[in-house]
This record gives sequence, structure tokens and C-alpha cells, in this order.
Amino acid sequence: MTCSSTTQKNIAYIGVGSNLDQPLEHIKQAAEALDQIPQTQLLALSPLYQSKAIGPGEQSDYINAAAALETQLPPLELLHQLQAIENKQGRKRGPVRWVARTLDLDLLLFNNITLETEELTIPHPRMTERNFVLFPLRDLAILLSPTLALPDGRSIVDLAQNSNDDGIYLSSS
Ligand code: AMP
Repeated sequence: MTCSSTTQKNIAYIGVGSNLDQPLEHIKQAAEALDQIPQTQLLALSPLYQSKAIGPGEQSDYINAAAALETQLPPLELLHQLQAIENKQGRKRGPVRWVARTLDLDLLLFNNITLETEELTIPHPRMTERNFVLFPLRDLAILLSPTLALPDGRSIVDLAQNSNDDGIYLSSS
């Protein structure tokens, strides 16, 4: 792992999603909270996308975005900060996956590292299968770093271009 020291400025990309209790408000609140993480600055928030929920039962549409952060925190500390924000915004953790949630924050990319531990996998293991992750991340890439790629070299812009765009659209608000 080519990991960073704590004084280094790292670039991290975060997937942001909500489909409960006024999702737009949760996304906006999350963006402010990301900027308040110690030794961390929000560089940009992508446009917001709306898509159908995957998961059990009838659920509201998801609102998704991606955020770019500059941080001096190491990856695991950053993950803990993300989880603290989720908890503060009323995220309930339970045994069932893909249930409706007030806020989901995923650490998608951290510099160019790959990491696989029990608690944290980078790149996020399911990010390349999800258009609601790739589309906002592609928008950030175009804005900040057009050559943004996974550690294995796959381009984010290319992955998004080859991803299905059924049922996902830019949110009007
Ligand atoms: P979820 O319920 O989908 O948000 O998954 C949260 C769980 O995934 C937590 O137990 C995390 O420790 C773990 N996890 C592993 N890799 C990541 C990652 N890159 N970003 C966020 N959570 C992760």
C-alpha cells in the first residue's frame, strides 16, 4: 500500500446517498459536515442524481452525489469520521442491507491506494457496478481531475460512459 503520512494532503472521493426524511436536506447537511471534518476540506460536491432504490420493500427514490475532499487524515480515520456523520444524521444500522437510510457515506477512492481490511476496502468494492456512484464521480472527475482512475488504471469517465443510464437522472433541485 502506498499510504500517506498524516501530514500529507490526500484526495478522497466520497459517495453520498439518502432516501429517507427529506433526502435533499440530508445531502446538503452532509456536505457541510464533510467540510467540518478535522484537517479536511470539501473541494467540490457533484450535481445530485435521483434513482430508484434497490432493496427490500417500497422505498423512496435515492438522491446521490459524490464529494471530493482534501484531507490529512489517514483512510481509516476518515472512514470513522464519515460514520460519525451518518450516525449524527440519524442513520440506523441493522442486520439487513440496502434498507432505506437517511444517509450513506462511502469512501470510494483515496489517492491511488488499494486497501483490503476487515473494516475498510478501497476502492469501494461495489462502486464500479453502480451508476449512481459513477455518474456523480464522473462529474467531479471532469471538474477536478479528468484522468481520475481506479488504482488498476480503469478510467472513471470511461466506466461511467459504459454504465447503464436507465432510471437515473439529474435531480431538478
Ligand atoms: P454500508 O452499510 O453499505 O454503508 O456498509 C458499511 C460497512 O462497510 C461498514 O462496516 C464499513 O466498515 C464497511 N466498509 C468497507 N469498506 C468501506 C468503504 N470503502 N466505505 C464505507 N464503508 C466501508
